[in-house]
Amino acid sequence: MRIKEYFKSKPVFSLEIFPPKPGSPLDGVLATIAALSDLRPDFISVTYGAAGGSRSHTVEIADTIKNKYGIEALAHLTCINSTKEEVAAILGRLQAAKIENILALRGDRPADQRTTAPASTAFAYASDLIKYIRETADFCIGAACYPEVHTEAENADADLRNLKTKVETGVDFLITQLFLDNNLFYAFREKLEKMQIKVPVAAGIMPVLNKKQIERITSLCGASIPPKFRRILDRYEHNPEALKEAGIAYATEQIIDLLSSGVDGIHLYTMNRPAVAKQIFGQIHGIRQHLKAET
Ligand SMILES: Cc1cc2nc3c(=O)[nH]c(=O)nc-3n(C[C@H](O)[C@H](O)[C@H](O)COP(=O)(O)OP(=O)(O)OC[C@H]3O[C@@H](n4cnc5c(N)ncnc54)[C@H](O)[C@@H]3O)c2cc1C
Repeated sequence: MRIKEYFKSKPVFSLEIFPPKPGSPLDGVLATIAALSDLRPDFISVTYGAAGGSRSHTVEIADTIKNKYGIEALAHLTCINSTKEEVAAILGRLQAAKIENILALRGDRPADQRTTAPASTAFAYASDLIKYIRETADFCIGAACYPEVHTEAENADADLRNLKTKVETGVDFLITQLFLDNNLFYAFREKLEKMQIKVPVAAGIMPVLNKKQIERITSLCGASIPPKFRRILDRYEHNPEALKEAGIAYATEQIIDLLSSGVDGIHLYTMNRPAVAKQIFGQIHGIRQHLKAET
């Protein structure tokens, strides 16, 4: 099923996983999918080459999610430094596996290509990939958006204008980068409304379990750490159990607030930690039931 259909009875609950590093076996991620399938999310997304994860396994893992567990799969696909032939080959593999949903991304520039000039490849921006997919195949297409502005954008207004162009190229729904302050999301949602960007927006939530990990991620993606969460990190950084408990509670609180405010979807970055996702979903079970009954 096409993910845009799920958004007709929001909120949509989704989970994100990543493939193992190149050359590593798939057993771990397959066990993760088995565990996450118990949570019956609306869809599970699989990253593509993010944070050193393998690209070659994304289709295979999405295939397992969809065809073994009967859960809708969203395959991420990046285009920077890819040729049209390479993208066409992936689209063909996705079609063969009956995957109907793609998260179309530009991808991060390799460290030696960090500049704000357009990438000199067949696809300079995600919108070029989206245009190509629309012209050559039939997929439901999601894309990324950034409540705290993409790191390379000239400024917030330019980033929003670029987002509008991207959406108009053929995006069915958006997923945000992680954020730790819901007010940033609400302000972003208002800006989208003003810009007449009307596609559903799922909020990307990452349960933080480790100080070094979140500091590395936020320094790369430009998300900020609000004082409230900074105090948690500083207080419990040397006690992994306490930090984990606080990180899970914080993410749960974010989710409850977002759901109460009518968010279109919650996209949980699981970091391949099914026990953490289970704990969070366990805490919102009643809320999920309530919202389902309302639709
Ligand atoms: C939900 C989510 C999932 C992700 N999954 C992955 C993954 O699986 N693998 C991975 O490698 N990375 C992933 N990323 C990271 C993503 O690839 C990076 O953030 C990347 O730097 C930008 O990708 P994009 O698709 O948002 O790019 P774009 O939408 O192309 O935007 C990139 C930059 O270019 C600007 N821009 C866009 N169009 C134009 C234009 N026409 N003219 C001038 N400037 C323009 C934008 O304002 C922005 O600053 C993910 C990010 C998110 C939020």
